[in-house]
Amino acid sequence: MGFFCPSCRSAHGLEIRQSIALPPDSRSDEIMVQVLACRECKYEAAAVYEESRRGELGSEAWNHTGYRASHAALWRLMNLISACPTPKMAGCQCASHRRLGRRSQRGTWNALDDFDLGAPFGLVWDDTRPTDLPADCHPGSHEEEE
Ligand SMILES: [Zn+2]
Ligand SMILES: [Zn+2]
Repeated sequence: MGFFCPSCRSAHGLEIRQSIALPPDSRSDEIMVQVLACRECKYEAAAVYEESRRGELGSEAWNHTGYRASHAALWRLMNLISACPTPKMAGCQCASHRRLGRRSQRGTWNALDDFDLGAPFGLVWDDTRPTDLPADCHPGSHEEEE
């Protein structure tokens, strides 16, 4: 499963290859920076996921956006994420987390402002696949290869 690839237009080619969770800022409760790669055409992109649970009771707002980032920006992101020992821990204090978790004096996360992120694009799940095979109906199935 993956997202629509804006390069080769594969419906679900774009997959999350790397992801790092960052501490909440003045707007969001969850922030994740990701590197996406298309398994069909090898296209690479950056993505940012932000989620806020501070609205009205029961409302959850989230935003997941892809970016046509330059190779240099992707390379920096990949190196930073790879260098972190615990990328799933928003509270990690490593150099990568300090760099990618940077925020303004007002407390707004702005760590990617000086990355060449490029034009944003919407991340669309391919939800057109048949859903008549619930996962729990296959007790004997083993994990899929890649
Ligand atoms: Zn592609
Ligand atoms: Zn870290």
